[in-house]
Amino acid sequence: MSAIVKVEDLTRIFDVSKPWLNRVIERSPRALLTAVSEVSFEIEENSVYALVGESGSGKSTIGKIMVGLVPPSRGRVEVDGVDLATETDRAKVDAVRADIQMIFQDPYASLNPRWTVRDIINEPVSIKGGDTKGLAERLLEQVGLSAVDAGKYPHEFSGGQRQRICIARALAAGPRIIVCDEPTSALDVSVQSQVLNLMSDLREELGLTYLFISHDLTVVHHMADKIGVLYLGGLVEEAPRDRLFDAPKHPYTQMLFDAAPRMDAFGREVDPPKGEIPDAINPPPGCPFHPRCPIAVDRCREERPRLRPIGETRVACHLAE
Ligand code: SF4
Ligand code: MG
Repeated sequence: MSAIVKVEDLTRIFDVSKPWLNRVIERSPRALLTAVSEVSFEIEENSVYALVGESGSGKSTIGKIMVGLVPPSRGRVEVDGVDLATETDRAKVDAVRADIQMIFQDPYASLNPRWTVRDIINEPVSIKGGDTKGLAERLLEQVGLSAVDAGKYPHEFSGGQRQRICIARALAAGPRIIVCDEPTSALDVSVQSQVLNLMSDLREELGLTYLFISHDLTVVHHMADKIGVLYLGGLVEEAPRDRLFDAPKHPYTQMLFDAAPRMDAFGREVDPPKGEIPDAINPPPGCPFHPRCPIAVDRCREERPRLRPIGETRVACHLAE
């Protein structure tokens, strides 16, 4: 197997200053938020690479950079050997971009309510003047809906069916890579696994590669071959799925597993809070996790740990072994 995606030192900084404040006070401070910090990973062709982390960990920003919705501040995203940020040959970039599609979290917000399902699915192809005859009908059947659904409108479908329509639209241009940003978290639990199974089947049938973004460890366990754990924009641990679940090495990964929803005595989900996520505008010095880390030592407050390999795992922790 070879890497189809190579992400190197990817960094994205947002300016979140409030210029309107300048009129109120003399000068508002310039506020920079590092959403993604020096992230590197590779995705093997026809595999699922999952990025997990809490909200604000940078996972969605990485997804948006992958599909070109957000430019990186630094670093590379190389697909099939083409660096999307610096390649100057427009035709090359367009060819690679056409190979990457995205499925978003909210199937209600991402479908135009005034368009028929046919027009929605065909759009990525018709916009380029491609042949769309029978395309939507064929794709609807491929995602478990029916050809006659092509003439209907989004409001006639349930959430799970709408996400199938989004998947059909993502497939229309014949992509090789699909970025899936929390694709089932807006759906009822009862339909989540149906949509995930469909995505797994499509990967096999079509030889797709997924970058799968989620905060949900159950979903990630179901889907992923390899998992990267993000904290405050940085990768803190990466390992093949079973390795990560059997032997998490980073204290933050261990905390994520401890905090995964469990049932209390009344059958309700309990999600024990374990400290606040620090402010990404003023991240803590040293290891960004040290304010929440149960085993932090002095060195952790001063020196930022780099990712280093331990067996099949890469981990950014001074004390991991
Ligand atoms: Fe905890 Fe220190 Fe490891 Fe950071 S480097 S995770 S603070 S032990
Ligand atoms: Mg998100």
